[in-house]
Amino acid sequence: MRDPRHDEFERLQKRALEIGNTGTGADYRELLKLLESEFPVVRKAAASALCKWFNRDASVALVCKGALFVAIGKEEGEQTLNYMIKALAKCGKYLNRLDLDLLRDIARNPTHKDYVRASASEAIAVGERENKDEAARLRHWCTRCRRPISAEESAKGIDKYGKPYCRHCLEERRLEDINFEANVEAAKRLRTIDEVAVQSRGEKMIGDWLAANRIAYQYDERMILAGDIRIRPDFYLPEFDIYIEYWGMNTREYLANRRNKQILYQRDHKRLISLTPKDLPDLDAVLKTKLSRYLNVGLPGGPGNQPTVGDSVHFGAEGNSCGLHSGFAVDRP
Ligand SMILES: [Zn+2]
Repeated sequence: MRDPRHDEFERLQKRALEIGNTGTGADYRELLKLLESEFPVVRKAAASALCKWFNRDASVALVCKGALFVAIGKEEGEQTLNYMIKALAKCGKYLNRLDLDLLRDIARNPTHKDYVRASASEAIAVGERENKDEAARLRHWCTRCRRPISAEESAKGIDKYGKPYCRHCLEERRLEDINFEANVEAAKRLRTIDEVAVQSRGEKMIGDWLAANRIAYQYDERMILAGDIRIRPDFYLPEFDIYIEYWGMNTREYLANRRNKQILYQRDHKRLISLTPKDLPDLDAVLKTKLSRYLNVGLPGGPGNQPTVGDSVHFGAEGNSCGLHSGFAVDRP
């Protein structure tokens, strides 16, 4: 005898097929409803339709995931179950640990048909692979110890030091900076004639010379170059916008650092006077010559201090050329 509800489930079955082939927008909700139908053939058609839709457009899979798991828990038809699991596999990276555990239960359960268990295994493989890819994409590493760190930790380090650090290394770095400051301050054992604490004999001689010539200077001040690069020039002459670096050492690391610093000055078109220990015996003459390359300024202190007129200005040893020309006169009080 013909099932009196035959017409109804045939209609629903057709509708499921139709949505699977051409459904758009919120039509998927209708399919999720059909997944709960009392008619096994309708549930099967709905599960198959979801599979088809996800193949066309996987983005809907995520919103259907929860309903699919609920339906899987209740489903007794193996073929329907199989379609549901195949549809779930489209959720890929969105399959979380709990989801994967549920799928593992199915894959291991000998009461299920082999093809159902195989589909579950495949869905697990897809989920695990895409989860791993996602984790690798989102992973952050500590610059120093190479340990994986959270996005927040990474952001903190970048904000503070321009590099990602783990919590431990960030603290280490902070302490190093404090120690560095302390070491620099501790190394300033000499005093210039105007009572500025400096680190070396060369620096003291330069500071003494500037003070004796009544040229205002800042010593070891924090400054910003090239927009955002922090630098601490040995001396800065604010009246003339001139930097003086005393390159007192010869180690490989020091020389590399010196080169970098020089490039910075050059790139920012700064006027830099470089001095080395070789210049110290004749510091007065060297400084006058180097300063006069930039400025037409009479330096007090007797003969030989006449304004130097007509120098075209080159950065000389620094390999920079600077657009200061003769006629630039500085009046200082
Ligand atoms: Zn670290």
